Amino acid sequence: MAEKGEKHWSAIGIDLGTTYSCVGVWQPEQNRVEIIINDLGNRTTPSWVAFNQHERLIGEAAKNQASANASNTIFDAKRLIGKKFNDTTVQNDMKLWPFKVIATPDSYDDKKPLIEVSYKGEEKQFSPEEISSMILFKMKEIAEAYIGSAVKHAVVTVPAYFNNAQRQATKDAATIAGLDVLRIINEPTAAAIAYGLDKKVQSGDCLSKIVLVFDLGGGTFDVSLVSIGKDAFEVKAVSGDTHLGGRDFDNRLVDHFAAEFQRKHNKDVTGNPKAMSRLRVACEKAKKLLSSTVETVVDIDCLCDGIDFCSTISRARFEKMNKDLFSDCILAVQKCLSDAKMEISDVHDVVLVGGSTRIPKVQKLLQVFFQGKELCKSINPDEAIAYGAAFHAAILAGKSLSLSSVIVDVTPLSLGVGLHCGDFRIIVPRNTTLPTKNVVGGFTTTYDNQPSVDITIYEGEETIAKKNNLLGRFRLYSLPRAPKRVPKIDVCFDIDDDGILTVSAQLHGSRNKEQITITDHSGRLSRNEIDKMMSDAKKYKDEEQERKKTAKAKNRLEDYVLETKERLRRYEMKIGRKEKRKLGDVIEQTIQWLDWNHLFLDATKIVDKLKEVESICEPIFENMHQPNAADPEDGNNSSDIEILVLD
Ligand code: ADP
Ligand code: MG
Repeated sequence: MAEKGEKHWSAIGIDLGTTYSCVGVWQPEQNRVEIIINDLGNRTTPSWVAFNQHERLIGEAAKNQASANASNTIFDAKRLIGKKFNDTTVQNDMKLWPFKVIATPDSYDDKKPLIEVSYKGEEKQFSPEEISSMILFKMKEIAEAYIGSAVKHAVVTVPAYFNNAQRQATKDAATIAGLDVLRIINEPTAAAIAYGLDKKVQSGDCLSKIVLVFDLGGGTFDVSLVSIGKDAFEVKAVSGDTHLGGRDFDNRLVDHFAAEFQRKHNKDVTGNPKAMSRLRVACEKAKKLLSSTVETVVDIDCLCDGIDFCSTISRARFEKMNKDLFSDCILAVQKCLSDAKMEISDVHDVVLVGGSTRIPKVQKLLQVFFQGKELCKSINPDEAIAYGAAFHAAILAGKSLSLSSVIVDVTPLSLGVGLHCGDFRIIVPRNTTLPTKNVVGGFTTTYDNQPSVDITIYEGEETIAKKNNLLGRFRLYSLPRAPKRVPKIDVCFDIDDDGILTVSAQLHGSRNKEQITITDHSGRLSRNEIDKMMSDAKKYKDEEQERKKTAKAKNRLEDYVLETKERLRRYEMKIGRKEKRKLGDVIEQTIQWLDWNHLFLDATKIVDKLKEVESICEPIFENMHQPNAADPEDGNNSSDIEILVLD
């Protein structure tokens, strides 16, 4: 295993989903990507993290205990990443989440969201980046367990519609998880890579194709038009909504049943986090069932105040309550086509990605929009993104692949600066191919002898600057004394392969050129914050290892006690009364000791205890021990006891 790790396997692809994450690695021997199963044997892992009195849980372990620990179980961190606390989407989501979101103590506009939980009896606050880093860390661990050696490099995917702040925050999350990000790529691009590989493998067909990737997941929705050529995947246009997916459909069902419960029992479940969590789980299950049946039952024992809840829901009703959301999906497809100046007939294939594309109504609406065209379902909608990301990771890590490809991405939103009059001046138009460097000249001063100018950077499509998303601002100082409108300033927008922006401004036509570059923006974590989070992540990892060690030691001690009990029973006749009582007391006291102290025990204390117990019990068994030919098990007993070795 280690040999494989060293040779080829070190770069992985991670689909960091809102609801599920997936990890893959390129296998050169088989010329394909392996989607790696997690410790529970599943190919995708819930993007959930939970905290309790003793430990931190990630993935299935977190999701499974959600209803019993709703307020400390975090999901949907991707909906918060790179966002401001006052964003409408954040404010709306908060109303439905059972966990607490608070604001950082920054100035009013710049407040960022923090998730507050109770962990080991203390109030702890985590940034969305930290929660995402825990999920990335889990995916890294899953890959390392499979590969058999440390993994350092990864390609991580983000929705195509993610803005600069959200991409940067995702990159920060990977850094905190101890990963070196080879590249951040768009999820639909990754899916198109998987589709392209699939097509090449299937038919050897290498002609250029236009593919529409329709990715409707748990929390985000992306539509992309991707051109797939002989060796290149080029994203022509992207559209979608960072805030639309399966969870919204679940929420409609939750609202529906909460209202029904209120009507039937005159009780409000919305204020009860545990009930809401259980209702949400039941609604998601019902929604999935409605993709294959036309009616299903929602049945929850003791939902609220001891009252059972049972109701039915039909597919038609479900479709009706989500009609507007489904229509929004089709509108986004239309927008994507018109942005790319393409017709329906230009699209060769429509590729379905994301769990929510299993909803029959979504498929039907899409098929009708594409005038009856068959939709492509040959690639696994849950794994396509990780598959493409892993393939891309292998290319970037310089592995010799039989299929080498160039992947080209575009900017999801227009980027530019605010003007003195309040207008937005676009410098990099939406859907510009990456990487890009655009220099625009002709910026100037508005009054005589103005010493400096402010450059304010926005992203968005509004003509009024302030209505767009503010990315950052900086000041260009030391302008020469001159009448207004005389100094000429060039502004340069440089976007790298990851879609991350650097802006610089420079005085034109002067020997003393001044230049200032921003690589940072207000929403981003500072290097110090990232360092602190990295050391916290290490602390959590150490704590987890310590906890595992303690659990292992505890198991050994418990095993020893059980075994001693069993030996006592078996050799009852050979042991004197006094010794028997002594053994019985030791067993009893050890069980009590474990019970009373379980909160304060560490591995060392337990190992010491085991040694102490052994030193009392073993001599008794040794003294009574007379190998008896009639008892076949007899000769093995004392050597059955394992020597305690801790990792
Ligand atoms: P993400 O990329 O956002 O993590 P996924 O692509 O993994 O999301 O999709 C998860 C979403 O798909 C969840 O909301 C889940 O409820 C939904 N889903 C999964 N299977 C089905 C199904 N059979 N019918 C409807 N929705 C489904
Ligand atoms: Mg997804």
